[in-house]
Amino acid sequence: MSLRLVPGGRVDDELPGLLVTGAREVVTVAGGPRMGPDQGEVDRRLADRGDPNGAAVACWDGRVLGVGGEADLRTLLPAEGYDLEEFAVLDAAGGSVTPGLVDPHTHLLFAGSREGELELRQQGAGYLEILAAGGGILSTVAATREATTDELAAHGRRWLDEMLGHGVTTVEAKSGYGLDLQTELRLLEVAHRLGAEGPIDIVPTWLGAHAVPPELRGRPDATEAYVRELLEVQLPGVVAQGRAAAADVFCEEGVFSADQSRRILEAAAAYGLRPRLHADELAPSGGAELAAEIGATSADHLATPSEAGIDAMAAAAADGRPVVATLLPVTTWFLMKDHHAPARAFIDRGVPVAIGTDFNPGTSPTASLPLAMTAACLLLRMTPDEVLAAVTINAAQALGLAGEIGSLEGGKQADLVIWNVPTSRQIPYWPAADLVRTVVKRGRVVFARG
Ligand SMILES: [Zn+2]
Repeated sequence: MSLRLVPGGRVDDELPGLLVTGAREVVTVAGGPRMGPDQGEVDRRLADRGDPNGAAVACWDGRVLGVGGEADLRTLLPAEGYDLEEFAVLDAAGGSVTPGLVDPHTHLLFAGSREGELELRQQGAGYLEILAAGGGILSTVAATREATTDELAAHGRRWLDEMLGHGVTTVEAKSGYGLDLQTELRLLEVAHRLGAEGPIDIVPTWLGAHAVPPELRGRPDATEAYVRELLEVQLPGVVAQGRAAAADVFCEEGVFSADQSRRILEAAAAYGLRPRLHADELAPSGGAELAAEIGATSADHLATPSEAGIDAMAAAAADGRPVVATLLPVTTWFLMKDHHAPARAFIDRGVPVAIGTDFNPGTSPTASLPLAMTAACLLLRMTPDEVLAAVTINAAQALGLAGEIGSLEGGKQADLVIWNVPTSRQIPYWPAADLVRTVVKRGRVVFARG
């Protein structure tokens, strides 16, 4: 058996099998979503003592067959009827192998940029002040409405390429820069189209309730009028289109109240859209409480939850219906906040924690999930192993996909990353370095550096 590479670094597509050998470690994160004391239990398989080729992963037809020592796999596979000649071999060359990373919270699709707000913030302007002055989300809405569908797709492709180079194999992509039916549908369609193009899988989320659109803002009942439009026009349109998998609401003082958020998410859930929310990002707004009450898949940001909110999420987790706390530490960093999400409290209270980039043009313009991993270590005091679970199996759980992706175990989609470092603990340790050597999606090499 030999390494069969075709030009461009792709493993021969003719072969249904893939054997990843020569890893210093394989971190499987097998065994389901992590919470409480298990948040940092990642199932690290080290190369067999005395055998530098010991940690190996076998894949077949886009699925993981198993993880083990290479010698064991080479004995087991033929015993189970597989022909070793049908496996391409990919040498991890002493690197770490992890599941493909999952970014559970991005605003992938937009037009324009907002670098000017960085300086406004340096001069002391707050997020909601910038929004009230017509900047922030609204300036991106204006640019996005004007952009053609092809321009939006090209821009999305550019940033997906960057994400792939950071080891990301599945991305959640929200709408929310249209705020009218037509543009929201265009954004969801582009998200779907880019996912179909691959190699990154995309989970489209409808975020019509991101802000009140400019055309309604002069009215005294603007927010309530827009909530009615969301319920009566956008939601039925989004459901008829059939692209969105989830619905999201910016539940925040001054944006959408907890009651308005509940109405939108309950209506969306009745149509089969998984409910999730931007919760308590800037001030305690009842978002964590609401997430627990309605059984949201994920509550995101949570930089300023109330004690009651943390209690409610802890109680939901103890009841066996955990809401994933999807924390976005780059955002609080980029907003120059001195207060960050209480990750340690969530972990101590048994709430599963995921980490995302919150990629967006205003408050977190980074497509690098490894950078968010560093931020989670430094600002949220999470350990590198807790963070790895947060960007793999728990991020998958935040998307309702923990049965399909997020770990390396038999039957799961064969999405994995070979890192140019011997242990995954070094991924957050070298901030802003390009550490990804190879990305495999559904058993195929889709990215190779150098
Ligand atoms: Zn967001």
